[in-house]
Amino acid sequence: MSIRLRFAITKDGTRVEPQRDVEAFCPVCNKPLVAKLGLVNAHHWAHKNGVKCTDTWLSPETKWHNNWKNKFPKEWQEIRCKDNETGEIHIADVKTTSGFVIEFQHSPIELEEIESRENFYKDMLWVLDLGKPGYRNLLTSKHFRGEFDNFGFRCTNLNELIPPEWINRNSIICLDYLGNSELYEFRQIYCLIPTGYKDATYLYELGREDFITGIVNNKLVVDLKERKEKIQEPFRFSKTLRALNEKGIHLNQLNKSHNQQYQSRTYSESEWQKIKTIQNYYKKTKS
Ligand SMILES: [Zn+2]
Repeated sequence: MSIRLRFAITKDGTRVEPQRDVEAFCPVCNKPLVAKLGLVNAHHWAHKNGVKCTDTWLSPETKWHNNWKNKFPKEWQEIRCKDNETGEIHIADVKTTSGFVIEFQHSPIELEEIESRENFYKDMLWVLDLGKPGYRNLLTSKHFRGEFDNFGFRCTNLNELIPPEWINRNSIICLDYLGNSELYEFRQIYCLIPTGYKDATYLYELGREDFITGIVNNKLVVDLKERKEKIQEPFRFSKTLRALNEKGIHLNQLNKSHNQQYQSRTYSESEWQKIKTIQNYYKKTKS
């Protein structure tokens, strides 16, 4: 199956949908494209037979992928992104007006490519297609009934829930179990929010329509980022605390009021910064 694009560009740089008698080019490699206007597949542009695009991240598009992209405004779909330093060009599935990228991933990809895409797009989230029996069966499992707190479910044993290459990422990964079906029980979207701590992830569940509306009005992205910040704070806190403990500075000392010269010991600037972080955290959590 060849790569399908909904938008090509004309010589004067206009974005055009597939149509007859228009000379159009690939937004990445600039090679001429052919309009495919058949009855079976959604109309699309394709590279000529045997021509490979320089964007190796493009994969043959599935119905699932297409359906997702079309939930968002046309002007946000298939956006050409260029790294001005390296000259590297890729097409983001969806890019919002605030510059946030969403990638819809149907097929498995290598860890290396996941990392490259995250480095390239920076501000992004993934939606994974898990609409397959092996993954759907886990929906009612223990992974979705973990410990509950203000943030959502805390999720462990992620290795059973998603393919291994998606574990311990620092980006937000949203799980879609619907696939191409209309089954009501699979309509929720599950957002995995990393804690910054190995093997611990939070799960935030929301309705599909809320997910889409939330992306369109930009509130969901802000909300997810705030959640991530809040969720990661106690984990950062315990990391800091451990680092101090290793240097012989202990919790009971930190509960007391401090100045930089404490118990005849002078803290280094970085130790002092950590102590202040912890004191602020205590103040905040007590109030
Ligand atoms: Zn191309």
